[in-house]
Order: sequence, then C-alpha cells, then structure tokens
Amino acid sequence: MSLRHGDVLVSVSPSDPKDEIGRFAVADAGAVAHAVERARQAFAPWRDLGAEARAAILLRYRDVVRARTEELAGLVAREVGKALWDARGEAALVPAKVDVTLREGLALVAPLEAGAGARATYHPRGVLAVLGPFNFPAHLPNGHIVPALATGNTVVWKPSELAPAVAEWLLAAFRAAGLPEGVLQVVHGSGETGRALAVHEDVDGVLFTGSSAVGRALQEATLDQPGKLLALELGGKNGVLVLDDADLDLAVAETAISIAATTGQRCSSTSRVFVARRNVDEFSERLARMLRGLRIGSPFDPGTFLGPLVSHAAFEKLAGFRARAAAAGGERIPCGEPPLPRPFVAPGLVRFESTAQTHPYQREEIFGPEAALYAVDDLEHGIAALDDSDYGLVASVFTRDRAAYERCIGRVRTGLLNWNRGTIGASGKLPFGGLRRSGNDRPAGVTSTLYCTVPQAHLEHAGGFDPKSLPPGVPTP
Ligand code: NAD
Repeated sequence: MSLRHGDVLVSVSPSDPKDEIGRFAVADAGAVAHAVERARQAFAPWRDLGAEARAAILLRYRDVVRARTEELAGLVAREVGKALWDARGEAALVPAKVDVTLREGLALVAPLEAGAGARATYHPRGVLAVLGPFNFPAHLPNGHIVPALATGNTVVWKPSELAPAVAEWLLAAFRAAGLPEGVLQVVHGSGETGRALAVHEDVDGVLFTGSSAVGRALQEATLDQPGKLLALELGGKNGVLVLDDADLDLAVAETAISIAATTGQRCSSTSRVFVARRNVDEFSERLARMLRGLRIGSPFDPGTFLGPLVSHAAFEKLAGFRARAAAAGGERIPCGEPPLPRPFVAPGLVRFESTAQTHPYQREEIFGPEAALYAVDDLEHGIAALDDSDYGLVASVFTRDRAAYERCIGRVRTGLLNWNRGTIGASGKLPFGGLRRSGNDRPAGVTSTLYCTVPQAHLEHAGGFDPKSLPPGVPTP
C-alpha cells in the first residue's frame, strides 16, 4: 500500500500500517524522458552483444534471484499482503521464467526457413515500456522484462505504485548479474508516470499488465502512434462450470481456492460458478463451508491462506460491489467474518436464480474473494452462461466426461480453458492471455518473445546473374 506525498511514494505494508517499507522518488515527465533517452542509447550495444552473451547475463540474474527467493517472497508478502505460501510461489516463478524464455521462448523467434532462398529473421523492437500491476509485482513484470531483454530490447519499467520496493529488489538483482547500464531502468509513480512513459514517442512498444480500464486508456492515448506495439494483459470475470457427473470434492476444493487465493486479486480468480441444477444446493453448501474454513490472517503466519486486500481503496471497491449484490437479484450465502480489521476481508458467495447476467455486479471484475453462483440445466446452457461475458481470460469445466469438456474447447471464448482444474494457475510453457476485454491478442507466457520482436522476411540468392531467370520481353543487361 503506498501513499503519494508530493513527489515521493511511501510504501506501507497493508497488514501493518506502522510498517513503512520505503520512500521512492516519483518520476515526472522529464525524468521519464531521460530514462527513455538512456534506454535508446543502450539499445544498439545491447542488441549487438548477441543472443548468447545476453543469455549469459540472464542466467546469472536467474541464479542471483534463485539464491534469494525466500527474501523476495518475504518482501512481496510485506508490500502487497500476499500470504507467504502464495508469495513463495510467485518468487519461484521469477528465475523459472529465464529458463523457459531461453529454451522455449527463443525457439519461437528462431529464423524461419522457407526453403529456396526464403527465410525470416526476428529482431528486437527497440525501447519497450513495461507497466506492471500490484498483484504479482515480481512475476508479471519479470514475465515481460526477461523476454524483452533476451531478444535484444532495452526496457523502462514503471512498476505498480503499490509495490515499488519489489521493483527495486529485482532491479538490484539484474545489476548484480552484470546487466549493462541503461538496459533496464525503473521509474516510479502512479498512472500519470505510466502514461508519460507509454505515450513517449521514442518508446517502440508498451507491455502492459493491469486493468481493462487502463488498457483501454492506453489504446486511446496511443491512437496517433499506430506503429507502437501494445501488448495488453487485462482483467477477467472467470467462470467455472460444474456438470452433473463432476467429482464434487474436486470441484468444490478447486473452486474455493480459485475464488480466494491471493484474496481474490488474481486476473484468473473465479468470480462466476455455474453448477448443474441437480447438484447446486449441495455444491453451494459445501463451497460456503469450505470458504468459511479458509484461514485469514497475517501474511507471515505460515498457516494463513488469505492475507489482507492490498489497500483500503481495494476494500472500499469490494464493499461497494457487495452492497449491490442484492439489487442485482442475488442472495448472500454467509461465508464468515474476517478476524482482523480492514483491509482484511472474508470470502463472499452470492446465489442467483437466473443466469441472465445483466447487473454490473455480475459483469464487472470485482477483484476480491467474491463469487456469484448459478444453476444451469445442461452442458449447452453452461457453455452459453460461461460465454456470456465481456471478458475472456479463463474458464474451467468439471466433469468426468472428457468428451463434454472437449465440446467446450473453442466454443467458450477464453484464452485458457481448464478441465478439472481451477481457473488460477498456468503453465509457463504455454501462452497466457485473454480475449475481448481481457487482452488484445498478444498473449504473454511462453509467447512473449513474439511481441518483443519484429520479423524481417528475406529473399536470398547466393549465386550470380542467370539470363534464364529473366521474364519474357526483358533484355539482358
Ligand atoms: P491497474 O490497471 O490499476 O494498474 C496497472 C499499472 O498501470 C500500474 O502500474 C498503474 O500505475 C498503471 N497505470 C494506471 N493508470 C495508467 C494510465 N492512465 N496510463 C498508464 N499507466 C497507468 O491494475 P492493478 O490494480 O495494479 O492490477 C490489477 C488488474 O490487473 C486487474 O484488473 C487484473 O485482472 C489485471 N491483471 C491482469 C493479468 C493478466 O495477465 N491478464 C495479470 C495480473 C493482473
């Protein structure tokens, strides 16, 4: 949680208002322009260093982080309130991204050989801006930065104003690994700083992870710069579908965890649950019981499952949505009370009689541990209800029948569709991105190297002039 005092960000732990983590100078437009200029100067030497030398530095960075993941996890827990088990999971993903990028990611942008003197090569775009969210303050910016650097770009990173200390920690790790000056820089601040960076005319691309509203604002702000790449990883309103033959123990457990992990603050959190009518009463009772049993507490207590929300503003936003659930036609199923004051919260579950999802409570991303529960008649009804969304990030289907799940593939319009697994969690070796308001078809994950590069196609001829190659009617030279 950070407060802005003049030109300084003050980072304060959400679980303890007396715990000030640090103060960070806010970059104004001049400081942003200076960082972009330095990144531009660093670009050609970094590109020309070659893939192998860049990889060697990134492997050193991986080792620096891997040796200190416990320290990184502790800082993430302290700065954004993530429970330690969860923060440890995030910290482990940071070095893993280096391996995936250098193996699977770079393979996607290896020269494309098309035979008979035709091939394409892939090249860095230049200076890239990375704008990060608070909820995975290390893993998600790292997920853009590592592929951007591996493919030869330089980066200016504007981290979330709620997690400046985590950004400084990662920057120090890159420096310790020997990353040359100017290749990665951090500028702190809120949306104003992010906007100044994104619209800067010498920034070749913006790699953004955050809300759909800010993603849209970035599209609008860069309308006059059509050559600027925007890779937008945005919000979700993710649903699970539990069919009548599902393993209910599995479905209840995976759904509860997907609703409440990271206190519901994941782009992939479950917020809509569709259950076969035959099972819906039993399912809702068991889900509510499991949600009530989840341990809420200090992020540093090893037995805690849910820490606090990231800020009082996030608490107010969730409370505002909760207050509107009844007006949306829902009936709240009690899920307990938080044992600690705000911004700690308990999970919430609201039952609806109809799958008509018309109210903002049912359509907007709430970003807290809150889910709406609906009954569905059959698979077709479930698919239609899942797909009735303005977002398209993740969906899950619980059934013992593989064929029923397969019928959902390609029909539920999401970037990720899971079978008998909750909506949270993802493989680093697969694409990660969403459709509609969840993104702009530039998936991150292993495919991040694709948006970090531009292809150049080549027709090549190693021999000399052959008069037989001339078309009819053309004289020899
Ligand atoms: P946010 O959109 O509020 O902020 C994200 C970043 O954008 C921050 O660094 C912020 O300072 C900056 N920003 C704000 N206004 C800006 C502007 N006008 N121009 C440029 N930059 C601006 O998001 P958040 O609250 O930090 O993160 C939560 C959101 O991120 C949720 O919507 C969540 O679903 C989404 N998210 C998406 C993914 C994904 O991979 N699809 C992953 C994690 C989080």
